[in-house]
Amino acid sequence: MKSLPRLTFCMTIGLDALSLWVSSFHTNNASMLSRGEMDVTGARRVLDVLDRFNIKSTFLVPGHTALAYPNLIKEIRDRGHEFAYHGWMHEDARDFDVAGQRLIIERGLEALHIVAGVRPRGHVSPAWNMSEQAVELMEEFGFEFDGSRMATDHLPVYVRKGDKWPANGAFQFGELTDIIGIPVAWVMDDVPIFEFAWGQISGLAPSTNAAEMWHGELDFALKNCPGGVFNLTVHPQVIARGSRLNVLEQLLTRAAENSDIKFLRQSEYVDLWRAQNSRDQWRKANPELAGDGSIRALPSMVDKG
Ligand SMILES: [Zn+2]
Repeated sequence: MKSLPRLTFCMTIGLDALSLWVSSFHTNNASMLSRGEMDVTGARRVLDVLDRFNIKSTFLVPGHTALAYPNLIKEIRDRGHEFAYHGWMHEDARDFDVAGQRLIIERGLEALHIVAGVRPRGHVSPAWNMSEQAVELMEEFGFEFDGSRMATDHLPVYVRKGDKWPANGAFQFGELTDIIGIPVAWVMDDVPIFEFAWGQISGLAPSTNAAEMWHGELDFALKNCPGGVFNLTVHPQVIARGSRLNVLEQLLTRAAENSDIKFLRQSEYVDLWRAQNSRDQWRKANPELAGDGSIRALPSMVDKG
């Protein structure tokens, strides 16, 4: 069995394309919408960079993108990359009831199946928004991992289901599941750094800002998080511009030159990590993350029933 690298670098590519602007930005502006088309040119540039480094990555593909660009999706598959489920139209699941959320997952999976013949093992929620029922639905649909977790920076977790956060009561930790959560963070995502949309996000930072943050995170993870993952999320429509693509290439060059760092698809990393971190063993080592030992109510609240 292969062992867990000192640090795994997961290149995660959000191919939101038009769905980002239709759904997350609710635009009726054809010019704004056309920004999503840059994902096609951008994806092929990013694919060429990944090929040069022989990196196999994880593409997050909403069903809407798969239907818009089936040939691109097949090309990504044929160049050795995997897909993760990423919504039907990049929706915020909190806008839907449970039946509506189920339909979104069914459509997202159906689109990837008819276009590329694949069934993703992983779930990454659009814009990392998640409903209260998200984990139960992941179990129902058989997802093995969720790449939308922010409880840690570079180490995976086992994900809980059924957490409750009443407005006037103690946090109620739910039950631990077998789903592995891969960490993500906005500091490790290109959209808030670079993208500008009137009144919504300011972006437009110089590419050196991304370089400073990403190299700093990489150094820290390598030194302090053995067996961990540096999960960088980029979007071709954002990252594939001149100075930004240079920053990505410089980061990949540095990582590729370090024998302690290996590039893996998310599912490959999850398999290695799970083999060395059983749920019981992880639970003992991480009681707070597992939700163990909390006080669920004040005595005075219990007395009053
Ligand atoms: Zn996305």
